[in-house]
Amino acid sequence: MASDLDWSLAACRQPGADPDLWHDASDIQPPGTGHRVSQAARICLSDCPAALQAACLRQALADEGDRSLDGRFGVFGGANPRERYELWARLNPARAAAMEARSRQIARSRAAVAAARATTVGLPATA
Ligand code: SF4
Repeated sequence: MASDLDWSLAACRQPGADPDLWHDASDIQPPGTGHRVSQAARICLSDCPAALQAACLRQALADEGDRSLDGRFGVFGGANPRERYELWARLNPARAAAMEARSRQIARSRAAVAAARATTVGLPATA
């Protein structure tokens, strides 16, 4: 039970831990591109008690709910935003499919608006 956990043992709460490591803006980048995030995740996975890692990840997923990738930040439970989004999508395939369909619809709408603007100022249409 999460309330039985001693969060004072969390690796990110130990003296000398740099909180910026867990909240770096670069964590939205694809895996392998964010050194600081890799460092935070490595600390989570190697230094934080397993029960806290699991509870931390569960809590992050609960807090983030159905947020898109862009709405997720930081490292929790050793997982960066992309990893948590992908985990959420695996756990909620129907909602993930609906979100992705909506994202594609928005992208098409934006492309149509951009094309209309380009036409308005006399630029050639792009593919
Ligand atoms: S798993 Fe959670 S509680 Fe543990 S160090 Fe990482 S962010 Fe902190």
